[in-house]
Amino acid sequence: MPEPKQQENYLLETRDLKVHFPVYGGVFRRKTGKVYAVDGVSLKVSAGKTLGLVGESGCGKTTVGRAVLRLYELSGGEVIFEGKNISGMPESEIRPLRRNMQMVFQDPFESLDARQTVGDILEEPLIIHEIGSRSTRRKDVENLLLRVGMPESAITRFPHEFSGGQRQRIGIARAIALKPRLIVCDEPVSALDVSIQSQILNLLLDLQSEMNLTYLFIAHDLSVVKHISDHIAVMYLGKIVEYTDADSVYKNPFHPYTQALISAIPVPDPSVRKQKMVLHGDVPSPLSPPPGCRFHTRCPFAFGRCRSEEPDLLRAPGTECEDHLVACHLVNSEK
Ligand code: SF4
Repeated sequence: MPEPKQQENYLLETRDLKVHFPVYGGVFRRKTGKVYAVDGVSLKVSAGKTLGLVGESGCGKTTVGRAVLRLYELSGGEVIFEGKNISGMPESEIRPLRRNMQMVFQDPFESLDARQTVGDILEEPLIIHEIGSRSTRRKDVENLLLRVGMPESAITRFPHEFSGGQRQRIGIARAIALKPRLIVCDEPVSALDVSIQSQILNLLLDLQSEMNLTYLFIAHDLSVVKHISDHIAVMYLGKIVEYTDADSVYKNPFHPYTQALISAIPVPDPSVRKQKMVLHGDVPSPLSPPPGCRFHTRCPFAFGRCRSEEPDLLRAPGTECEDHLVACHLVNSEK
């Protein structure tokens, strides 16, 4: 008898996740429509791994990140964390789980309270979750700072006294203070200089291997997620259009939108000429996404069916990678 296939240990799963925001208008502020920010997203992240979630601004990736932490109410679908369905859990039950689910924000300056010292900022989560005594917490804060490459003397200083990269280190120290299992990294390096970006990415990688952290890493740029991700999901207008392991997405992208994102990555060697795939037009409004394939208004390969029938996310043809999924009629009709 064949051995049963060992079940993958997923720390986080979303199943057909939907987040729609109501829009109000008119004199009586009546509900006039919905923003379909996230519209049926299913993802899986294994424990200790990184899923890169990539797409242009406004595609819904940050909303996915906040929805998995239950910072937004879900309009549909499920979030499974550590095997538990947390979708309908009341806030009182979610609160203790938040210890295991943290977030690193794009702009550490906005997310760090400018009136608190760094020591107070880092001690706060320990106090809220009643961890340690005053003196042990002080030691914990010193250790956190050292762990993220900051001097102990930062304890008594304020966030505005530090550079952008240092503030992001403080933001990361706060995220790991409670030894979480999952960290949602929401564009953590987009506001930083390129030279600092790689230092922060290396820090996140080191912490992941030390602490067996799982990351949902959100970015608008495929070059940023390349070195940190195990799997990558490409998102367009509230939907996942391609999902695969990190190597396959760069070597063998199927979806025209993924191909366009990859063609936009600059090549460091000036002698190499790269053909750029330019997308025309703006991303349509999530208030009224186009029918059929949501990408058809910008896709250079769109044909009749694309305008009326929504493509399913299916296994890509002719690839050995079992979990390479693509939502495109053109690609999937080649099977
Ligand atoms: Fe382009 Fe059609 Fe594929 Fe959408 S389904 S990406 S419009 S070819």
